[in-house]
Amino acid sequence: MGSTMPTLSGMAARRPRPAASRLLSALAGLLRTALVLGALAGAGWWAWQQPFMERPRTLWELSRAGPAQALPVPVMGVSPGAIADTWGAGRSGGRRHEGVDIFAARGTPVVSSTRGIVSAIRETGLGGRQVWVLGPGLERYYYAHLDDWADGLQEGDVVRPGQALGVVGDTGNARGTPTHLHYGIYGADGALDPLPRLRAGAP
Ligand SMILES: [Zn+2]
Repeated sequence: MGSTMPTLSGMAARRPRPAASRLLSALAGLLRTALVLGALAGAGWWAWQQPFMERPRTLWELSRAGPAQALPVPVMGVSPGAIADTWGAGRSGGRRHEGVDIFAARGTPVVSSTRGIVSAIRETGLGGRQVWVLGPGLERYYYAHLDDWADGLQEGDVVRPGQALGVVGDTGNARGTPTHLHYGIYGADGALDPLPRLRAGAP
């Protein structure tokens, strides 16, 4: 008699589990997997929103955006109508003018016309003191002949439209000429005329 109980319990353990139990077990496994994936996705989304990810996130957004077709004038207080069309005008050494000149008093604030990432801050060549901003559609915006750069501005900074980049001057090959901002836009195929976009951006 005493030997029947272990045998019965051994048989019970070997009995196949009911289909409903297997289904529940499979569902529990799926739920665990979904929770783990959800947590990972949530952590990724959280990280993507953090300040240290602002640059890669902005770069991604700029690459997804189309080129800006209407732009505010990047020199404070200047209207688009006051800007002469000098696109393509002859320059020394057989060069063509690859932008527009926006005249204003020395020290007038120069602001970014787009959202973007500051890709270069330097003093060199024809442009003198200059700032390059990578903008929507990954077009490169060129702000040149600055008298000085905005305080604290650094390469890699994410800038908003209207954010200060520097002030109007006559550095580079503009030395001694009426102070102005040389403003250029470069796409994948080279220089583009900024003036139609500035006129399109007029209020
Ligand atoms: Zn110019």
